[in-house]
Amino acid sequence: MIEIQRLSKRFGDNVVLKDISLRVDQGGVVALIGPSGSGKSTLLRCINLLTVPDGGSIRVGARTLAFGAGAPALPRPRELAAYRAGTGMVFQHFNLFPHMTALGNVMEGMVTVRKLDPATARTTALALLDRVGLAALAERHPDRLSGGQKQRVAIARALALRPEVMLFDEATSALDPELVGEVLAVMKTLADEGMTMVLVTHEVAFAREVADQVVFMRDGVVVEAGPAAQVIDAPVEPATRAFLARFN
Ligand code: ATP
Ligand code: MG
Repeated sequence: MIEIQRLSKRFGDNVVLKDISLRVDQGGVVALIGPSGSGKSTLLRCINLLTVPDGGSIRVGARTLAFGAGAPALPRPRELAAYRAGTGMVFQHFNLFPHMTALGNVMEGMVTVRKLDPATARTTALALLDRVGLAALAERHPDRLSGGQKQRVAIARALALRPEVMLFDEATSALDPELVGEVLAVMKTLADEGMTMVLVTHEVAFAREVADQVVFMRDGVVVEAGPAAQVIDAPVEPATRAFLARFN
């Protein structure tokens, strides 16, 4: 589970997250929607600690981190790496290591972060690639994979670190339309298997189908949150209605 309390973040004078509170139950799926610049990516990056919040707290499973004046110092690098591994992140632009094969990409964190021996890491990585339908392409480099295949490698790579939660930041936005489905299918399977997930997405129909909760953000605040069907089919707030009208 994830519990975010009063999270805040600013870049200079630009207050990007204003006292955000959000809870994702164990096995829950939350979809974050909202206009460009509303703070969706920043919120995901804060959960993964790629961005350090200015205030508030984030709990992931048994671990709580607090930020801002009076909060304890952040974990040291090794513990930080373990925390990051526990919050698997998938980006719009894949961010695979270009010089490594698909297999190498999936093995990398198992060897460097989880300290598995290469033979064990290899076996596990092959099983994960099989799970995302890429067993046959294990030895390919990213430049010879389609966008959808690259994104499935990225998902396998995140899963290799045995995350407690998975964070997806517009995982299908960079894909040609015909490749979106294969990535959404992997995400749906993960959700069905009980993975706790937060996804930033413009795929409103997918959010409606897979997410339990939909959160609409604008200008760094949560404007509306609730069961997916309710927020998407019958939004209460005018800003949510105006935003969703674009997708119809
Ligand atoms: P999009 O839908 O376009 O991806 P978003 O909701 O993900 O938008 P964020 O990327 O979180 O929005 O950005 C929120 C605000 O924070 C924007 O005004 C952006 O310019 C600013 N911002 C984000 N990252 C940084 C940074 N590293 N330094 C300065 N400003 C930043
Ligand atoms: Mg973004």
